[in-house]
Amino acid sequence: MQKSIERIAGDSEGHSYEFPVFRFQGTDKAAPSAYLQAALHAGELPGVVAIDALMPMLEKAEAEGRIKGSITVVPQANPIGRAQYHFGEHQGRFHLGTRTNFNRGFPLLAAPDVELLPDTTLGTADQRLKTRLLQLSIGHDIVLDLHCDDEGLAYLYVHASLWPAMADCAAAMGVDAVILWDEDTDGTFEGASITPYLNLPAEVARFDRRVATTVEYRGILDVDGALAGADAEGLYRLLVARGVVQDQALSTPGSFTGLVAPLENIDMMPAPRAGAVLYKVKPGDRVAEGALLATIVHAPGEAGGRTQLFAPQAGIILTRRSRRIIRAGEGLLKLVGDRKSADARSGTLED
Ligand SMILES: [Zn+2]
Repeated sequence: MQKSIERIAGDSEGHSYEFPVFRFQGTDKAAPSAYLQAALHAGELPGVVAIDALMPMLEKAEAEGRIKGSITVVPQANPIGRAQYHFGEHQGRFHLGTRTNFNRGFPLLAAPDVELLPDTTLGTADQRLKTRLLQLSIGHDIVLDLHCDDEGLAYLYVHASLWPAMADCAAAMGVDAVILWDEDTDGTFEGASITPYLNLPAEVARFDRRVATTVEYRGILDVDGALAGADAEGLYRLLVARGVVQDQALSTPGSFTGLVAPLENIDMMPAPRAGAVLYKVKPGDRVAEGALLATIVHAPGEAGGRTQLFAPQAGIILTRRSRRIIRAGEGLLKLVGDRKSADARSGTLED
């Protein structure tokens, strides 16, 4: 395993960012290669601790000559966001200098060719970081971007072209749900990882062995040793199932039994009022149409000071907010409905 340090020039002289990259050299050129990164949204740490638990497993496999395909690991992909504190609160989702989401604005290339990447020398530091992360990942058959939600189930975003071919990966990782999307216009990292292959002939794009996914490892507070160990085992099982790592002791994953739904089935439930949230449901709950989801206390102690929110259709609660203060219009929770939602929009993932 080789460690190298990446340096990203900052937005002023004398200022730069750095992050480590770990590379395992595969012994079989025909084996698929894998790229794993975590904490692109810099405060989302379940994936970081999962990688921390995964590394000894990979080092053991390497010592035993079982790394077949090359593996690149970036445990903390966003040193810019990691350093952002604003009035004492960590801010890892948006670049404070440009107000741009760290998981938007990745270049959507016409082909998987690093020569097509834009020159960001005169751009901003976050653009330079995005270009570099894409450059590090392009060419790998398997690209995993580890995130988490506010509070949520473990779930994957997967481009429709990779499903159901990726069902073995979902089963290996042991996630609860898979959300399928079809078009990225915003430039998420996942979108930038799969879009270059969409217009290639099938025999070149190789969707049968390609993996690109945003992994949502539950909620922001689910940074936990036992979960990290289980998630590391899930990542390892995926690498074994796809032939990146050899491990005869592992059985092949069974079929995926979790929830699979298109993005258009998601109801992003906006808060009808601003106030304090009293949730009636939590991630994983199955709700009937018309079930009470939450009450907003917007005028405490007053008659009519509470507003209730009901399920527009039957489905499963995927996520909810971790904070209990909400403003009107802000998303309270994500409900994966059994049918297309009334405000259905197909398109890009929501992370
Ligand atoms: Zn995220």
